[in-house]
Amino acid sequence: MNVNAVYLMMRDRYLRDPSWENLLALLGSLLYKFPVLFKAPLPPEEVEGLVKNCGFEVLEVSIKACHGLALTINPARIVRRKLIENLKKGDLPAPEPDLIDKDLARDEIFWKLTECAKREKTGLILIKEGLGPEVKTYALAHELSHHLLGHTLAECEMESWLSELHADVAAHWITGRPSPFLSEEENRLLAKLVGYKKRAVGGHA
Ligand SMILES: [Zn+2]
Repeated sequence: MNVNAVYLMMRDRYLRDPSWENLLALLGSLLYKFPVLFKAPLPPEEVEGLVKNCGFEVLEVSIKACHGLALTINPARIVRRKLIENLKKGDLPAPEPDLIDKDLARDEIFWKLTECAKREKTGLILIKEGLGPEVKTYALAHELSHHLLGHTLAECEMESWLSELHADVAAHWITGRPSPFLSEEENRLLAKLVGYKKRAVGGHA
């Protein structure tokens, strides 16, 4: 069985219909693509190993908009296109770039992204620098999940609340940790959805 073909088929089905069943089938296909997931929840070093094994480049940068960001398409190209679009508008009021675009357009981050793009590293995970180890592990797993679930692909039309929920479900499955960004009640629900009973429910693990 070609596990990658199964994964791609499940991902395609999930992106067309992000139902709970299709999410679970996609997560199931990931087990066979990355057998280390059979041991989930994984300790931090294995989460980092999985990110590397998946071929994603992690950049720790001083992003302001969020704790992490998953990027797939050549980010330098997006930023440049946006800047050119804004310049072309001349004296028309330019659309206000959102916080994430502003982060990506900052020199310090822009040049790092450009450097990755030159090396044809286009699967990127940006993590806010200075996070504590537990928050960092969760943020890494959350951004990795966005990538693996296909949320960063152009064909993904999911509403962001749903893709965030699904990335949290996957991150909780991978790490066994509660999200540091959700309330205790939300984490309890997450643990229930994933099926972890005694582990890491509410607050920091
Ligand atoms: Zn997210």
